Amino acid sequence: VAPLVMLFMSIGQIQQGRAAVQRVKELGGIPQEEEGDARAVPERRPVADTVPAVEFEGVGFAYREGAPVLNDVSFALPRRGLTAIVGPSGAGKTTMFQLIERFYRPESGTIRVGGHDTATLELAELRAMVGYVEQDAPLLRGTIRQNLTYANPEADDSDITRALRLASLEEFVAGLPDGLDTELGERGAGLSGGQRQRLAIARTMLQRPEVILLDEVTAHLDSDTEAALRDTMTEAAGECAVLAIAHRLSTVVHADRILVVEDGRIRTIGTHHELIETDEVYRRLAGQQFATEAAPA
Ligand code: ADP
Ligand code: MG
Repeated sequence: VAPLVMLFMSIGQIQQGRAAVQRVKELGGIPQEEEGDARAVPERRPVADTVPAVEFEGVGFAYREGAPVLNDVSFALPRRGLTAIVGPSGAGKTTMFQLIERFYRPESGTIRVGGHDTATLELAELRAMVGYVEQDAPLLRGTIRQNLTYANPEADDSDITRALRLASLEEFVAGLPDGLDTELGERGAGLSGGQRQRLAIARTMLQRPEVILLDEVTAHLDSDTEAALRDTMTEAAGECAVLAIAHRLSTVVHADRILVVEDGRIRTIGTHHELIETDEVYRRLAGQQFATEAAPA
């Protein structure tokens, strides 16, 4: 489903939108995961702080037989913090997100979210634990409040205010004629691309996920807007694990750890300063793919 089509969806249709994405994939002949009822928000089990938010153990995957995309991928990420995922185009980064969400199942190995094997979780339970923010985050018809609370109708005003603060949208919303009850309109009129992204993250945070997945969300943003979004990611990373597939040096430099993916394998994990010293591929990425920006101080 193209992002533009998603913009026209009304409240309650987003999950069906996902089902539509799955059907499109089915038409491509790819075996697909069962849909389940992703709308029912299930009871959440408590997760101990020592349990990794996301864990891959020996994960292998191929879209087509004989063409492996991920090979023996293993890593564990703590409950909080920002993890940047970098690597050449086609390395398998987005595929890792698709497996976490169980759009596909791994061929081998195990993926755990909050200590639970994703293969055995109810799909609704898994999707409640995993927040996914798209590059062109869809807005819904309706008010800002409705846009924020559709994933968690029980969120009260203090939850909403907290989420807005996290997204640096508190002042903006306070300045609107009807505040939280301002109608956004079909295309989220009045919101910039960066504000839309931040609203989408605020909405996801209200869902209280274990992990938020961000796939190149800064791709179309100018550097000021990107800086605001980066602050939002850092704030969110204080509450859950944030995994950001990133191609901007400025995003990556601020990450708590960087996971370098190459040819469907985890090449290395470290901070920017460690990897600049030790990893040739990272150095090359930092020099080329990230080269459009000035180096950080
Ligand atoms: P990245 O996000 O790192 O650029 P992807 O995970 O999107 O990489 O893709 C990894 C590999 O899998 C690429 O070779 C890509 O062509 C292939 N691939 C991605 N999605 C599909 C799909 N739905 N069907 C078949 N092959 C795919
Ligand atoms: Mg990708």
